[in-house]
Amino acid sequence: MSTTITTPVCQRLETFFDGGRCFALSKGRVGLYVGLLAMNPPAGSKVIMPGYSCVVVPSAIKYAGLNPLYLDINPHTYNIDPELLTQTDSKDVSAIIAQHTYGIPCLTNGIMEWARERSVSIVEDCCHAFGSTIGRKQCGTFGHFAFMSGQWNKPFSTGLGGMLLVNDTRLADKIRRIIDNRAIPSSLPRELLLQCQILLFEALVSPRTAGKITKLYRFLNKCGLVIGSSSNTELSGAMPKDYVRAMARCQVRKGLRELARVAENIAHRKKLTAFYHQRLPDIGFATLKDNLAAEQPLLRYPVRVSNKVEVVTLAEKRGFEVGTWFESPLHPRETSLSDFGYTVGMCPEAEKACREVVNLPTHLKVDEQTAERTLAFLAEIGRPV
Ligand SMILES: *Cc1c(COP(=O)(O)O)cnc(C)c1O
Repeated sequence: MSTTITTPVCQRLETFFDGGRCFALSKGRVGLYVGLLAMNPPAGSKVIMPGYSCVVVPSAIKYAGLNPLYLDINPHTYNIDPELLTQTDSKDVSAIIAQHTYGIPCLTNGIMEWARERSVSIVEDCCHAFGSTIGRKQCGTFGHFAFMSGQWNKPFSTGLGGMLLVNDTRLADKIRRIIDNRAIPSSLPRELLLQCQILLFEALVSPRTAGKITKLYRFLNKCGLVIGSSSNTELSGAMPKDYVRAMARCQVRKGLRELARVAENIAHRKKLTAFYHQRLPDIGFATLKDNLAAEQPLLRYPVRVSNKVEVVTLAEKRGFEVGTWFESPLHPRETSLSDFGYTVGMCPEAEKACREVVNLPTHLKVDEQTAERTLAFLAEIGRPV
């Protein structure tokens, strides 16, 4: 049953990506989990991923009976450093997660070739990259499958939710069977609560209020009063029993509304990315080095400062939307890294980025004036590294 409810949004996504099979789920991480299960790699084998991500990525890997292997990022692209990859022993590696961080395309500079030569499966983490391209080809269409997040602050929001794009028909059939067997349908109370959250989010969240509302939302989630991104069980490393869910009806409706303006969304993000890219040097901050990156519809534009805590605290107080991703190699800061096999010092560049990077919003609620004011705030308070 779960798959028929989600058909409209899946069909639209398949059109957007010009092929592949799409599945709509409760979260992006659930897509990663069912995709890994369907690939059926040897139990306990390794999945390479950047040590600069969300904790829900290694948790999905572990739930699938596999082990994360963290690689450091290149400090300019925020993606897996291809140099380090060439030095990595591929023994026991079954898959690599190519995460297009901030929307900056990964998979250039030999990562695809490295994986193909060693029969390592490629999974794309497209949670930040909706509409990013390499050549004319969409990110999400290069690997065996790609997962996307529909969370509030992701490029294509379904008010939580997640999507899976599968570029291999046999794998897609297996994924369909897993979802049909395991996905829990949404109950009426869950639908109603999600619908309320979607409406409140649309009405209340603006660049001015984003910081304060995020704080309140996290607090309410801890108390169990809202449907949040991660439950308390999950953050401690245990798999919640209702982990695999299909997308709820209200999320499908929200997804269709978002898809109706996807071209506008992508054009807007491209415009603001170019705007920040052009203006940051005027106020003394370094831009992305990669020219390809500056042409993408980035989810957020990363900027390095030497006083991140001060910038973030004052931004929230004064009502500027300045993001903190990522605060930890396995975001959020509260993650107990050792529970996920990460030891401090494993990925020094990623750890440095966590201390230095703040990011600027590009979404549709940010107009050029707001972006201008955010830059003025950054010029006043931020200290370039
Ligand atoms: C948000 C995010 C995820 C997880 O998405 P959910 O929909 O919350 O499961 C995974 N990877 C990255 C890079 C993300 O930013």
